[in-house]
Amino acid sequence: MSVVETPPKDEAPRHQATVTRAQQVTPLMRRITFGGAGLSDFETSGSPDERVLVRFPLDPPHARSYTIRRWLPSKNELEIDFVLHGHGGAALWAENAQPGEAVHLSTASGWFEPPAECDWLLLVADHAALPAVGRILEEAPGSLPIRVIAQVPEPSEQQTFTTRAHAHYRWIDEADSLLSELAGTLLPPGEGYIWCAVEAATARRIRTHLRRTLKIPATHMHVMGYWREDKLRWGRRYAAVADRIDAAMGEAMMAGKDFESIRDAVDDAMEREGL
Ligand SMILES: Cc1cc2nc3c(=O)[nH]c(=O)nc-3n(C[C@H](O)[C@H](O)[C@H](O)COP(=O)(O)OP(=O)(O)OC[C@H]3O[C@@H](n4cnc5c(N)ncnc54)[C@H](O)[C@@H]3O)c2cc1C
Repeated sequence: MSVVETPPKDEAPRHQATVTRAQQVTPLMRRITFGGAGLSDFETSGSPDERVLVRFPLDPPHARSYTIRRWLPSKNELEIDFVLHGHGGAALWAENAQPGEAVHLSTASGWFEPPAECDWLLLVADHAALPAVGRILEEAPGSLPIRVIAQVPEPSEQQTFTTRAHAHYRWIDEADSLLSELAGTLLPPGEGYIWCAVEAATARRIRTHLRRTLKIPATHMHVMGYWREDKLRWGRRYAAVADRIDAAMGEAMMAGKDFESIRDAVDDAMEREGL
């Protein structure tokens, strides 16, 4: 278990999706539109942060999570916005994808679940989470105050989204700290919901701040790691200390702790190990 989200159960390749066109949303964000008969039975989960596991036509096989930016059943069209971060198989595939190429998608599922009585939303995101932020804003009810704190590598990566809600954006750049920005943000009164999707180690620290400093109940927030900085190196370091992380998790489970407290124990162990 880690703060990188537990994958939904059904990750099987259910739908073939064929590239029909591509366009730049910003210099480092490419929107790929997919179509084809394989999407005719695609179903949205209804959650605005819904993701699918995308299997790319690469050797060796390569699959990564992506947000459904838009699903248009009337046109049988589905859009995904890819960050062109320049390293991984998915990002490089997206940079070069041409009409006619096909990927396979799992079913869609998401996590965004504000309480029924919600007075405000706070969205904390980095570049990879902007597609989900866009959908949350586009689908939000009118007049809901939504504050977005978002980090992008360049000012040219900032986006604004159509919304009926009262959205307020605070953009920070790569050198700034999302955690510091969040810590300096005064939360509005009333019932709110905090949704956060950022790099995994940053997500862990933000979750700790929300739980321990601000005492936000688990029902009023959702924090996810969307990707991991320097993944290969992290994997090697993790392998070296995996026993100790597992032991911390086992201890919390044996003590009968709830899911969030077990996650706390794992996060603490990761932090201790410098992960
Ligand atoms: C639920 C969910 C929804 C997501 N939705 C989207 C989405 O809609 N659009 C999107 O672009 N991403 C999204 N992501 C993030 C995406 O899955 C990761 O960025 C993924 O690692 C990209 O795979 P890759 O093959 O390009 O790179 P990988 O092979 O995973 O990694 C290769 C290297 O690239 C680096 N890297 C990976 N991602 C990034 C990044 N975003 N910025 C900088 N460096 C990076 C890693 O540190 C690693 O060292 C989502 C993730 C989750 C969990």
